[in-house]
Amino acid sequence: MRARDLLHPRPEGLYCPPGDFFIDPVRPVDRALITHGHSDHARSGHRSVLATQQTLDIMGLRYGEHFADTTQAARLGETIALNGVSVSFHPAGHVLGSAQIAVEHQGTRIVASGDYKRQKDATCRPFEPIRCDVFITEATFGLPVFRHPPDTEEIARLLKSAAQFPERSHLVGAYALGKAQRVMRLLRDAGYDRPIYIHGALARLSEYYQGQGIDLGTLEPATVEGGKDDFAGAIVVGPPSAFADRWARRFPDPISCFASGWMRIRQRAKQGGVELPLIISDHADWDELTGTIKETGAEEIWVTHGREEALVRWCELEGIAARPLHLVGYEDEGD
Ligand SMILES: [Zn+2]
Repeated sequence: MRARDLLHPRPEGLYCPPGDFFIDPVRPVDRALITHGHSDHARSGHRSVLATQQTLDIMGLRYGEHFADTTQAARLGETIALNGVSVSFHPAGHVLGSAQIAVEHQGTRIVASGDYKRQKDATCRPFEPIRCDVFITEATFGLPVFRHPPDTEEIARLLKSAAQFPERSHLVGAYALGKAQRVMRLLRDAGYDRPIYIHGALARLSEYYQGQGIDLGTLEPATVEGGKDDFAGAIVVGPPSAFADRWARRFPDPISCFASGWMRIRQRAKQGGVELPLIISDHADWDELTGTIKETGAEEIWVTHGREEALVRWCELEGIAARPLHLVGYEDEGD
């Protein structure tokens, strides 16, 4: 069967006609298969949701228990038949619970990666390359300028700054699902054993990570009790949105830090008032994107959400058929 008859874009999202399901739909549908818990991929209001147990749990934490009429947990590697179409979930290395979805029918296999990365991350299972005919790749950082340094180096810069300025607090902006927990875990792996202070928006997800066996050490709420001095020398983690509001003003002479792949662009850090940009991304950089495309052995690449053109061009130069998918509605919260 032709690949585009097996999966193709619709306004609701990527649709499989023979299986009658959508992958990461942006509007409510009857049957949704969901790659991971970031809010642009995992929305509430579908009739039924098939996802990994961790993604289902994360959706429950974010949207409340009744985010869908029915749910089904997909075990990694297990094949599930949906109207004669075989689907299976495989680790994507993006955030806890994240999965690629393989869709196979009449000898054609397409893998929808969702968001993914190849850098080691102690807070989720590593990406597994799956052989396929068509690989659907994200392209958030799909330009050769994007090369992420080792995350350990970035965390070492944060710890160095914290040691240099013991009277100041370090406010680290990090997305609530995935990035925040990864930053905390990296601090622990680097030997930082003081309490880490967290914004309330991170509490439940961080607690969930800890419950799933990802040790984040002692986390304390970043609330003022004894006055500003409480946070002298502290590392405080919060969602980027919190840094613009009153919450951020309670900390003594704070150094503003932001953990994101976008911090590679100096201008962007400057405009956002970020003093200490940390290039830590949960998305594949250029080398990871191109390396992964080759590893899948796919004859055809569909490129979505991000900078499609450069990656499509790279594929063509490599003799791999490629086209942009033009899915709408994805603005990843976890870059
Ligand atoms: Zn994501």
